[in-house]
Amino acid sequence: MSHAASSMSPDQASSPTPDQATLWIRQPLAVSDPDAAGGIVIRGDRIVEAVAAGASPTVAIDRTFDASRHVLMPGLVNTHHHFYQTLTRAYSPALNKELFPWLTTLYDVWANLTEDQLALASELAMVELLMSGCTTVADHHYVFSGALESAIDVQVDTARRLKVRAALTRGSMSVGRDDGGLPPQSVVQDETTILDESARLIDAYHQRGEGAMVTLALAPCSPFSVSRELMQESARLAEEKDVRLHTHLAETEDETAYCQKLFGMRPLDYLEATGWLSNRTWLAHGIHFNDDEVTRLGRAGTGIAHCPSSNMVLGSGMCRTLELEAAGCPVGLAVDGSASADHSNLAEEMRQAMLLGRLRYSPSQVTHQHVIRWATEGSAGCLGRSDIGGLKPGQQADIALFKLDEARFSGAENPLAALLLCGAHRADRVMVAGDWRVVDGQPQDVDLDALLARHDQAARALRSAL
Ligand code: ZN
Repeated sequence: MSHAASSMSPDQASSPTPDQATLWIRQPLAVSDPDAAGGIVIRGDRIVEAVAAGASPTVAIDRTFDASRHVLMPGLVNTHHHFYQTLTRAYSPALNKELFPWLTTLYDVWANLTEDQLALASELAMVELLMSGCTTVADHHYVFSGALESAIDVQVDTARRLKVRAALTRGSMSVGRDDGGLPPQSVVQDETTILDESARLIDAYHQRGEGAMVTLALAPCSPFSVSRELMQESARLAEEKDVRLHTHLAETEDETAYCQKLFGMRPLDYLEATGWLSNRTWLAHGIHFNDDEVTRLGRAGTGIAHCPSSNMVLGSGMCRTLELEAAGCPVGLAVDGSASADHSNLAEEMRQAMLLGRLRYSPSQVTHQHVIRWATEGSAGCLGRSDIGGLKPGQQADIALFKLDEARFSGAENPLAALLLCGAHRADRVMVAGDWRVVDGQPQDVDLDALLARHDQAARALRSAL
């Protein structure tokens, strides 16, 4: 039993089954949704009531969690990552480079990745995200050397074991250096293998509807790292299987020039020509769009995964978040891969999004509340979901509770704003689908010290394999 305050109501005598017992997250210090100022009531894997300020729940309460020292938020939703890159953080040969030279330096290291290393990298990234208050993790895995044929199966196993919600994608690369592409030939696959594997994974793992814990999407690494046929066939398969589409787009000006040279058109025109400009798609970065492209993206309802830290580290540019949102795009947040970010901390990413947004727009346009919406509701929209990312009755019981008991918060007057302004980086408690996955800042069912030791060893082995 945790240290959570457990005061039983008189209704305890009715002894509800554990999955029907109600839990009131009672009177939080602050909450991101004003409708839930008195907390929320959870039954099973769902929120059943949002309690008004100073009020008591209308449903009978079996247990309470005293949240008077906690800031309550929906669990954060990450929309783009490359878990394997946690093994190549702050890697000297790739430091201080822009995207294309950064990529070509790292591809040679990533080409030696093994399944065991990927399993450790995925576990580490998921745990790191959970500890930052993230309840839904996304990954874009596109490196499939011979040793990594089961990469997505491995990630599904890890997510299930950690009981974290996961939006996994079957990435792909089919144009290697022999054909003028950036990646080494050993990590590209032929189109038939990619499509057959994509169909197998969707059939095996993709869950549909409310409360889905594992979803699959199709995700060519970028439009220029796969053939035109594979872009088109991926869109066709996604439609047939009713799954989402994901890729990197408009990250750098180099990419725009590359697409002009390769296809004779800008990245978004190519995306549209291959059947991808739709509300089934969410794009990582989405920086270099002109006004007409912003309008077209908004009309299509295409989602944008904004990755501020990665964009700053690689000097890629600033996403036009507010224009995209005004045009009709869901805008979410993402930490991106840990070789460019180099953290997997979504709470910290909110702070970066707020600071970068204010630099581009103004403090009154990019408020802390606005950024929290990106990291929750906006991110959920990118993943095509309305059952997560909020604290409304009927939504999934995915929540994050932050305490302001560190030196960095001392003296703060507005607890919600303090999370972003003072730099929250670690949640005290995190619940996924009604299940506490972080308690007192510690991930559950994980030996964190042992994981860090094994992960560090794997990173050393990967670097020395070069
Ligand atoms: Zn990425």
